[in-house]
Amino acid sequence: MDSILSYMARYDYENLYICQERETGLQAIIALHDTTLGPAAGGCRMWTYAAEGDAIEDALRLAHGMTYKYAAAGVNLGGGKCVVVGDPRTGKSEALFRALGRFIDRLGGVYITGEDVGTTLRDMEYIRMETPYVITLPRELGGAGDISPATARGTLQGMRAACAAAFGSPDLGGRSVAVQGLGVVGSRVLEMLRAEGATVYVADIDARRAADLAARHGATVVPPAAIHGLDVDIYSPCALGAVINDQTLPELRCKVIAGCANNVLATIEHGDLLHERGILYAPDYIVNAGGTIFDTDRLQPGGFNEERAWGHVDRIFETMTALIETGKQENIAPARAADLLAERRLAAARQVQNIRRDVRISM
Ligand code: NAD
Repeated sequence: MDSILSYMARYDYENLYICQERETGLQAIIALHDTTLGPAAGGCRMWTYAAEGDAIEDALRLAHGMTYKYAAAGVNLGGGKCVVVGDPRTGKSEALFRALGRFIDRLGGVYITGEDVGTTLRDMEYIRMETPYVITLPRELGGAGDISPATARGTLQGMRAACAAAFGSPDLGGRSVAVQGLGVVGSRVLEMLRAEGATVYVADIDARRAADLAARHGATVVPPAAIHGLDVDIYSPCALGAVINDQTLPELRCKVIAGCANNVLATIEHGDLLHERGILYAPDYIVNAGGTIFDTDRLQPGGFNEERAWGHVDRIFETMTALIETGKQENIAPARAADLLAERRLAAARQVQNIRRDVRISM
């Protein structure tokens, strides 16, 4: 990142807040990308960054991703993100998160936080002691609790829609799937796929975990370095980002890619290359939006409604179907069609806002 302001201008960011409190040692960055659809929401990440600029860039990049994720999912929230600089294993305290809560509260609701890499529901409870602007909370505090089941369910919905386009049927029974990573989401994806009658291959760098889960659900373990190159119908990345890159792309033999991992493509151009090779890539932020959709249901009037939240998660099938269709019509890769879908929704919302402004002016 050359200069912060020129980076913000290039991707049209609204605000960047830098928070410091000497007493608690808090150093945090809050980035707001776009609040057209509603207050900016996005998780709070705690990480040890090599340099200050890396933390700022991470917050900005992640906030931008949240704008697109909410816009494409039909959720009326803008995109934001918070980054706390520190080691999540050693640097956490009640005082630190409460100090962060006070900063978030001072923003008056334009930013709403939640759990992310390095933070837990417990940390959110501390933030909640200082501000109401927290989405991810345990059920007893009015939140949706653990969101990983919703992420897994949404992942399967995205996978079904991709299969409908690639194979002519959304049915997962009889399909072969390679699941990379058996964490909280990947293990559920495995369980659900097996329940539907799919043949599943799995890999995890935790070999014991892979062996245990494979034995429990009737899957086949393969080495982590081989999972992406299996000759299967679907490759489901559920671990790390950037797994579709210059090295892995030529080794792929699947027809569909659909998994819960964030930032699956090393670059958007890798999405174009997949498209050229006839591999249907279900864009990550559409496939993995289930948890976010479930979680944010509590912001609807009347608070969290579980039935409505599951219904909204299931709509990932329709969203994916629509963007595959857009991709065909515009002759672009699905990853670009997802961005287009989000940008069109933002443009439509801006138009409505302009109409409202005109009405106010003319009255
Ligand atoms: P997790 O940490 O519980 O699981 C990740 C798993 O991947 C672990 O079992 C780990 O051992 C394994 N792993 C790591 N590197 C690997 C490799 N090279 N090969 C094979 N396995 C490897 O994480 P999670 O919550 O299940 O999330 C998985 C992915 O989905 C992440 O990219 C996350 O950002 C994304 N995601 C998760 C959620 C959610 O609700 N938890 C929501 C949206 C996106």
